Amino acid sequence: MSDSEAVASETGRSETQSGGCHCGRVRFSARGDFSAAMACNCSICQKRGHWLAFVPATDFELQSGGETLVDYQFNTMKIHHLFCPTCGVGAFGQAIGPDGSAMVAVNLRCIDDIDLTGVHVTHFDGRSR
Ligand SMILES: [Zn+2]
Repeated sequence: MSDSEAVASETGRSETQSGGCHCGRVRFSARGDFSAAMACNCSICQKRGHWLAFVPATDFELQSGGETLVDYQFNTMKIHHLFCPTCGVGAFGQAIGPDGSAMVAVNLRCIDDIDLTGVHVTHFDGRSR
């Protein structure tokens, strides 16, 4: 292993992955580090059970299903909790990050063939915020 590879393994890796909802209407590809996830206990994340990885909107491409997505919003209406009305799966959400840039929260559980046992999960106390 070279030095650069060692650094890459320590800081996480950026990779392009495909994913989507259960019925296949919603398909996306995204570039980011999908070896780590955030599990949040806020009112909606707790019920949905999503494991989220955040990527810049520019690193996310919605390939199909955009016309079918339902946009669920509540409270401050800042986050778009999108989901497929056919199968009910929320593959990703959209929000504006703290620095004002558009972000996409990818539901790691919707990445094709992901091995969830290898994902490092960080628990975020969204309920208290
Ligand atoms: Zn679907």
